Amino acid sequence: MKRPFLLCCFVLISLQSFSWGFYAHRLINFQAVFLLPPEMLFFFKHHIAWLREHAVDPDRRRYLMPGEGPRHFIDLDHYIIDSLPRNWKAAVNKYPADSLQAHGIVPWWLQTMQLRLTKAFREKNAASILKLAADIGHYIGDAHVPLHACSNYDGQKTDQRGIHALWESALPELLAEEQWQLFTMRAFYIQHPADFFWERVLESGRAADTVLQVEKRLAAAFPPDARYSFIERNGKLQRQYSVNYVSAYHQQLNEMTERRLKASIQAVAASWYTAWVNAGQPDLIQLMEGITDTVKKRNIQLLGRFWKKD
Ligand SMILES: [Zn+2]
Repeated sequence: MKRPFLLCCFVLISLQSFSWGFYAHRLINFQAVFLLPPEMLFFFKHHIAWLREHAVDPDRRRYLMPGEGPRHFIDLDHYIIDSLPRNWKAAVNKYPADSLQAHGIVPWWLQTMQLRLTKAFREKNAASILKLAADIGHYIGDAHVPLHACSNYDGQKTDQRGIHALWESALPELLAEEQWQLFTMRAFYIQHPADFFWERVLESGRAADTVLQVEKRLAAAFPPDARYSFIERNGKLQRQYSVNYVSAYHQQLNEMTERRLKASIQAVAASWYTAWVNAGQPDLIQLMEGITDTVKKRNIQLLGRFWKKD
């Protein structure tokens, strides 16, 4: 009897939330920690609860800082992709800055964040490392969401309002914990971060039509009373997608959300790892207080065995 109740809770969605839901953002930062090499894993695992919790800070800031919103998306369909500058300075030379901001800047913002994180590692500033690592984890996650790469971000142009939260909140909240295999390969080094981030954003842009069209077809096959269910919360009746509808959408998308979530986790670990390598692989354990040299050495050896297994 417990499971149906839990499922009902999990598919509750907020129609106001336009980025991976809080659940998925936290999951991405949390899982990324386990892909790191031992020299990083020891420090990151020590702070894993903080990294997980603060994975959603950029979304919280959106309502406080006017410049925050554009960092989470880009309307690729607004541009001719091949002639869109991959470098921010070149983009500003080509388009007015306010127009760029209006259509989102996530692929350029990720490049800035990568440099800032590298600097924080170089300066061995533990607070900055953690803050920037949590933040870039969020932006990388958003860059993997197809509806963050097109202007029809919540199906508002095609009578599909609510699809944003369906894809990125309801799906992972219902299925990730029990059905998805998120464990993935260890962190890899990103040779060219700008190209890498752009490629992930372009992949998202190419997937956006599928996200919309598949839901359109599915909605036509599901009568409204099977598409939605209602739950009472705080004395109010709330509408949510039904478990059957969410599951059917996942299948018809050929498990796209699961693949993008997994790719997000890999990319976050790769970004953290690359920043650390480019900063000269600073000793992060020095930044941890109250841990003896013997404990540090033993942990590194243990984690090293795990890292080399693969
Ligand atoms: Zn976001």
